[in-house]
Amino acid sequence: MDCINNSNKDDERLPMLDLHDKFKFSCGKEIECSIQCCSNLNLMLTPYDIFRMKKRLKLSSEDFLMQYTTSPLKEGTAIPVVMLQMTDDEKRTCPFASSEGCKIYEDRPSSCRVYPLGQATTNDKDKAACHKEIYFIVREPYCIGFNTDKEWTVREWKKNQGLDIYNEMNYPWMEIILDKILQKQKMLDDNIAKMIFMGSYNLDAFKRFVFESRFLETFDIENEVIESIKKDELELMKFGFMWLKAVISGEKVLKVKDEAIPSNNKGL
Ligand code: SF4
Ligand code: SF4
Repeated sequence: MDCINNSNKDDERLPMLDLHDKFKFSCGKEIECSIQCCSNLNLMLTPYDIFRMKKRLKLSSEDFLMQYTTSPLKEGTAIPVVMLQMTDDEKRTCPFASSEGCKIYEDRPSSCRVYPLGQATTNDKDKAACHKEIYFIVREPYCIGFNTDKEWTVREWKKNQGLDIYNEMNYPWMEIILDKILQKQKMLDDNIAKMIFMGSYNLDAFKRFVFESRFLETFDIENEVIESIKKDELELMKFGFMWLKAVISGEKVLKVKDEAIPSNNKGL
């Protein structure tokens, strides 16, 4: 099983929870807390996290990635997963933390929303497993939010934290990065790593790739889809996942134009 959404490797994990299982937790302005949960994190960002945060900050994908994330594209990298860059103060505080709370609260990433739960997925059996919701409690020792009688079911917490739309957008991407062929490789080919990075996170570069290369001469894409990915970045992100499925997992989700198939391959 792979933990995909948990930010601290030193956590203490309790048994898996079903959606109707209950836990006690409370966090908010009424609690006097040192907000340690917003520092010293290894916080993975999903493409949809970045989409929401960059929109909130009115930044391009490239500017957001440069200013707020660590670059995963090092030589001989494994799957390029983007992490939020903490500030370089003593506590490694999140750049969005303030004495008033989270400066981007409505657009905070999935990991921040789900806490005090952790979320996991599995690539043990098949792709449907990515859509299974697996939660567990992450009891950070410093967190005083557990000292309460306020009770939630997992389902109520998800609703309260606006997590459903994040899950809906994150699961198709998780299917791609949990692809068994990718997971087996300790080091990815540089070009594959760059493709995953672009198709997942760098919407600016992906848009240029679609509209300024031979992409549309190669793939048979409906005009309606072309128009929607030109105008709508969320549609572009989802289209990027489809392209990654085609090139990484070999799924036949994009049709190659007849004229782009070399004549000696036709009819194969
Ligand atoms: S994004 Fe907001 S909630 Fe998440 S760690 Fe940073 S300050 Fe805390
Ligand atoms: S109660 Fe826990 S979750 Fe809430 S601010 Fe404090 S440490 Fe963070």
